[in-house]
Order: sequence, then C-alpha cells, then structure tokens
Amino acid sequence: MARIESIHSPPQCSDAASSSASFIQSPAAAQGELQESLASLGLAVSISEEKGRCLIALRDFCRGQVILEQDPYVSVLDKESRGARCDSCFVQAKSLKRCSACKHVWYCSSTCQKKEWKLHQDECKAINEVKRRKDQTPTSSMQLMLRLMFKRKLQLDKVVIRSAMDNHEIVELLPTHMADTSEERLVLYAQMANLVAWIAGAATVDIKEVTQLFCRFACNAHTICDEELRPLGMGLFPVVSIINHSCEPNTVLLFEGKRAVVRALEQINVGSELTLSYIELGTSTESRRKALREQYYFTCNCPRCNHLGTGVVSLEDSILEGLLCKNKACKGHLISNKGSQKGLLCQLCGALVNENEASKILAEAKEVLRQASELASSGNHHSAARIKTEELKHLQEKLWHPSSVHLMWTHDNLLKICMSEQDWQSALDYCRLTIPAYERIYPQFHPLLGLQFFALGKLEWYLGNTVEAIKALTTARDILAVTHGSHGNFFQGLLSTLHDAQASLAQKRMFH
Ligand SMILES: [Zn+2]
Ligand SMILES: [Zn+2]
Ligand SMILES: [Zn+2]
Ligand SMILES: [Zn+2]
Repeated sequence: MARIESIHSPPQCSDAASSSASFIQSPAAAQGELQESLASLGLAVSISEEKGRCLIALRDFCRGQVILEQDPYVSVLDKESRGARCDSCFVQAKSLKRCSACKHVWYCSSTCQKKEWKLHQDECKAINEVKRRKDQTPTSSMQLMLRLMFKRKLQLDKVVIRSAMDNHEIVELLPTHMADTSEERLVLYAQMANLVAWIAGAATVDIKEVTQLFCRFACNAHTICDEELRPLGMGLFPVVSIINHSCEPNTVLLFEGKRAVVRALEQINVGSELTLSYIELGTSTESRRKALREQYYFTCNCPRCNHLGTGVVSLEDSILEGLLCKNKACKGHLISNKGSQKGLLCQLCGALVNENEASKILAEAKEVLRQASELASSGNHHSAARIKTEELKHLQEKLWHPSSVHLMWTHDNLLKICMSEQDWQSALDYCRLTIPAYERIYPQFHPLLGLQFFALGKLEWYLGNTVEAIKALTTARDILAVTHGSHGNFFQGLLSTLHDAQASLAQKRMFH
C-alpha cells in the first residue's frame, strides 16, 4: 500500500490543485491503510447493519490495559485555558511564551512552538486579519475549523506528514448526520461557515463543505479533560470516534495532555466490540436515550437500555430518579404503572398515586429541578448560594427518594461550595453522603467513582481521620489504576497521600 512518509517543501510554482490531487487517497484506500495499522494494535473496524462502523478486538485485553492511544487530528484549548496551558501539549505552566505575531496562542517551550509553527503559520495570519478588520478573535470552534482546513491543505501539499491514523480521509469517513440535523442548526452552521470563509479567504473555502464539517464536529468531536475530568478544550480523534456508545461500556476514555487514551474497564475477549459511554450514565433509561437521540441521532439498544419494559429497568429508573411514596412511613419508590390503572405505583406498599396526583407531584419536582439548575449555572460559590442550595436540599428530600440522583447532585454542589468556603468538615459530610449514590450509579471501575473516593480520602486525611482516609484512598487507588493508569503525576500524588496516611497510622499504633 502506498504511504506518504517523506516531508517535502511545497512545490514552488506548480498548479496546487493538480499537485495535491495525487496525494488524496480514496476513502477505500484510507480505510485499508487504517485497518492495517489497527491490526498491529489488535483491533479492526467492522461494519454492523444496525450501528454502522464498530471497533472490534482482535485479541484479549485485560482490565486497565491501554487499548488505543491517539493524538488529535486537530485540537484547541477552551477560552478559560488559553494563556494558562500550552497550545501544543496542553501542559499547565506558569511562564508560557506568547506568539508575538498574533498574541493569541501560548507555548510552554520553543520546542512546542517550533512543532506547531507549520500549522500555526496560516492561522496566525488569519487571526491577525480578524483582529485588524473586526477587532475580534475567532471562537474556539472557529479556530478548530480553521486548523482542520489548514492541516488538510498542509498534508495534501506534503508539508505536514500524514499517517494511517492521522489524515483527512479518515476524518471524512466520520458520519455528519446532516439529514438528522435541525434546519435551525444547519442555518447556524452555514453562518459559521461563511465566517470561516471570510477569515480564511473565500476563494479557497466551499461553504457547503464547511457546513458539513461543523455537523461532523457536533457529533464526533471530543471534549478534552484533565485527570479530574475538568474540560480543557476540544479535539477530533477520528479513530476513537469509531468506538460506539453503550450505557454499560467496556472501555473508558481519558486524556494525557491532549492525547486520547482508551483503556479496558473489564476483561475484553477477542471478537468483542469495544464500547464507550458518550453521556452521563447516572440517569434513567428514558433520559439517556433522549440525550443520545438529541446529540448523536440514534436510539440506544445497549444491554442496559434493553431491559426496558422488563420491570428491571423501571425499578432501576425509579431508584435513580424516583419519587418517594406518599405513605410517609413507607420507604418505597414510585414506579410508573403502565398497566390497567394509570399513575404511579409504590414498589413496596403498593400505594397508587393516580394520574392527576402524579402530574401535580411531577410539576412540583420539575420546578425544584429548574431552580437547582439555575443555581448550579449561576456558579456563585458564596454563602448565599449555600443557603439556597441547602433550602433546595430540604425541598428535594420531601419529594425524592434518598437514593435519587437529584439529591446526589445537590450534595455534590454543596460539597463544592463548602470546599470553596474552606469549610472542610461540612465538605466531608456532604462527600460521605454522595458515596452510596455514586456506588449505585456508576460501574465498579468508573473514573468519577474513583475521583469521588479520592476527594473523600483527602478530606478524611486533612481532618485527621486516618483509618477512614486509608480506606477511601485505597479504593480510589484501585479504581484509578484501571481508568487513569499508574504512571502519571496525578496517580503518584494519590499514592504519596496514601503512603503518608499509612505511615501515620503505623506510628500511632507504635506509640499507643
Ligand atoms: Zn508545550
Ligand atoms: Zn501567532
Ligand atoms: Zn443504552
Ligand atoms: Zn409505599
């Protein structure tokens, strides 16, 4: 198979279109080249009638093993991280060097700046042009699009090296779901495409194609997060994007800098399909399916969703989002009763709440949730927000079952507020309250579960509860070793806290 591996400078005075044409691979050739490269990793792309492309294991992978690593085809930092992290490697650094020409991107070293220069060169000019003509800088999604277009051109011109897992043809194999995209959104994308054309120089830009690319971004781009799952930016990872969604995934995606790393959450046997979760898993089947339909345009038929209508799922859903029984002495959840009598039925005492009563309760619940999300999005972590969120917690406790995710998120918000107020004891109390809910919601080896145990362990340790600290940090270590791997500074930080706590306990035991 023909591969383009040498780097040449672009042809000086030849017709750009005809010189680049010979380096465009057909989709089939790009697919074949990708398949060959994946085979060396023990992976293969396969086609299923129901889901389209799937990624399949050609060998066994054990829990915690890295299955796939990929650098983004293109990536961009969020506005919040720009100036605090290196644009090239996403590393956080105190003294970053700014590009003196556009003053819009920062690098941790001249090595990173040199590495990006070929890609940044055209972007730099474009940013300056926008600044000069509009007194503005491009948004992150606009910048991502510009980078995609510049990179494709540079690869076609052989200025930037292309490889089997890093080329525009495999980006073009990703679905756009243009036919499913709403008219409203298409209009927005077309406007953005016009702006891109204006920035990049209209002559080289096909508006229709860029609109299509924005559709492709919407259902394929990944949010790049740090170890604690805080968002840093966006990236396009065309091979990772082949992995389909499941609400009971067998792999997990995390990032090292901006590099995507997919690890096995369980033993994966040869021939199995790899799956990832695209969404928050701590919600009911109906909520998960709605989220997936709205952003990714498919109805999930994973094993967890397929319990729908079997009773197992309604019980699971009522535990996750369930309301309390109207019988005050009863600890049951209400589950929807789609049989002969309409309404909500208590799974323990059998009390029936009729349809009118049920819709009244649900309307009240909806209003409380609206207030909750308003508070959460206001982001004010001060005492006023704390009082309001505590009020909300009391209101929620009257309506929802203690196991409900709504209460869990409120406890989580209160935990964050107390942390920012440095009220460590209350933070610890709220953190302890979230643990049983986290354990019920997330799979045994989920990064959010591991991170919550890590937070609990640090709070217990800080407040002098050594035994509890060791217990929580040990659980965190066991989970994060699988989801994050045990090499990075983040994991080493956890280990050193755990060792300190263990040493302190040993010392206490020696003297008492
Ligand atoms: Zn860097
Ligand atoms: Zn620049
Ligand atoms: Zn599902
Ligand atoms: Zn009951």
